[in-house]
Amino acid sequence: AVTKRTPLIAGNWKMNLDHLQAVATVQKLHWTLKDAGHENGSVEVAVFPPFTDIRSVQTLIDADKIAFGLGAQDVSAHDSGAYTGEVSGAFLAKLGVGYVIIGHSERREYHAESDEIVNAKVRAALKHGLVPVICVGETAEDLEKHGASAVPAGQLEAALAGVPASADIVVAYEPVWAIGSGQAATPAQAQEVCQALRQVIARVLDEDAAARTRVLYGGSVKSGNIASFMREPDVDGALVGGASLVVDEFAAIIRFEK
Ligand code: PGA
Repeated sequence: AVTKRTPLIAGNWKMNLDHLQAVATVQKLHWTLKDAGHENGSVEVAVFPPFTDIRSVQTLIDADKIAFGLGAQDVSAHDSGAYTGEVSGAFLAKLGVGYVIIGHSERREYHAESDEIVNAKVRAALKHGLVPVICVGETAEDLEKHGASAVPAGQLEAALAGVPASADIVVAYEPVWAIGSGQAATPAQAQEVCQALRQVIARVLDEDAAARTRVLYGGSVKSGNIASFMREPDVDGALVGGASLVVDEFAAIIRFEK
């Protein structure tokens, strides 16, 4: 059977937009898409605001029946207890959060998140009914030494240890050298690695999981290059940083088909 994967365009706001700015941004994005006739678009949209914004954004999405997914940018590996500064997946689930980014290269680099920590967070997210958006990607140095696929494939394999084949996950291929650099991967590079990651899913989980799991590309995605990535058979959407902060630009990315 052919599995049709719904494209996912995810906005990773990183540490930008306070809760008032977040509400204004979601409101404006909703109206911009509505005006453009995108209401019943075939693309799923999700926003990933800072923790302090989540309650406000969730209330707005609920009240105005806005069809955006809501995600957090990190989650604790623990359920509750003496972990100052951490946020439990249980708390996020209770706020209606559906997704959580795990293992973003900025967490791996600035917070020393190892493959083991990423794996523990993936399992914690699944335990609480959150869909982990598992981020993997090679540095420029890795690319030179090992080629594009080896490091991200290894990171994904480690992240999936102990994960059941039935798990609902999203994978994001984000070459570190492409993040915030304005230098995106080529569509062919993205396809090559996303295909390799799908093969990892097939091997570690199973073929069905590989066929249904969305694999996103991230790294300097903008309205001018999104369509070229989406034409690739193994690229099912994008994780967008900088360009997701500008409503008209993010709306244009979401409307890549038009
Ligand atoms: P960028 O970030 O779109 O600003 O390159 C992507 C990301 O880090 O998720």
